Amino acid sequence: MPSVEIVEVAPRDGLQNEARLVSTAQKLELIGRAIAAGARRLEVTSFVNPRRVPQMADADEVAKGLPERGDVTFIALVLNRRGAERALAARIDELGAVCVASDTFAMRNQGQTSAESLEVARETVALAKAAGRGAQITVATAFGCPFEGEVPLARVVEMAKRAADAAPREVGLADTIGVAVPGQVGEAVARVVEAIAPIPVRVHFHDTRNTAIANVWAAVQAGATVVDAALGGLGGCPFAPGASGNVATEDVLYLLDRSGIATGYDRAGAIAAATWLADVIGRDLSGKVRCAPAFPPAAT
Ligand code: ZN
Repeated sequence: MPSVEIVEVAPRDGLQNEARLVSTAQKLELIGRAIAAGARRLEVTSFVNPRRVPQMADADEVAKGLPERGDVTFIALVLNRRGAERALAARIDELGAVCVASDTFAMRNQGQTSAESLEVARETVALAKAAGRGAQITVATAFGCPFEGEVPLARVVEMAKRAADAAPREVGLADTIGVAVPGQVGEAVARVVEAIAPIPVRVHFHDTRNTAIANVWAAVQAGATVVDAALGGLGGCPFAPGASGNVATEDVLYLLDRSGIATGYDRAGAIAAATWLADVIGRDLSGKVRCAPAFPPAAT
């Protein structure tokens, strides 16, 4: 049976944009519930400037509270050397580095050019490796920039190649602002898979324009083997105008389960965790499958 790995990003990318601060205890409970449902790789926090991202100010406390599990990989997003060093000093298994395909977004989001962001990401991988930890690199705005518009695919492929040269666990393509469409995703993923093999390709979609689930399918068909998703479809990006939630984990599980693609992540457990999360956040979340009757219906 073919399989795809899910990276559960609700605790970081999901929560980052929530105005209401979620307590460290609730974040750890969210992480615990996702693991109980079968998540084995989770983006749990980010070591960034707490003034810019107040929701992540408790990164050290979250890291300290993580369960001792040899079978689970905990990822933290870092944007610079200082963040990488903080994450490595904490109990984090894997650093998530980001390079940005468009210069304008790179300047506004990270105060760097696109090329500089790539150098920092490569350096982050080197720091992680030197410390015996893992690292991934994500190419942000891979499918479009809120300021520059279309991002040339040749540029994305080139960045992915240079990122892959640093030998990260995988290279991710992120639709930071939710503009990608399946035809574009299929072509981009196929080109990047070919360019960086055997390093795997991960994908990260936001559902701003109702295309995220279709994009996941196009990416998997084109050879992506790792998919980011957030319980309930939680999330957004505070620095990307109009970017709404991540693709919902439980919706991705429905798509893949019924297509015969294994994930090891239990759909009923994910739905229960997403329902709990909606309660904690205090508003409805965008995931669809959670609100629909179970299918196939439970045997009576
Ligand atoms: Zn995101």
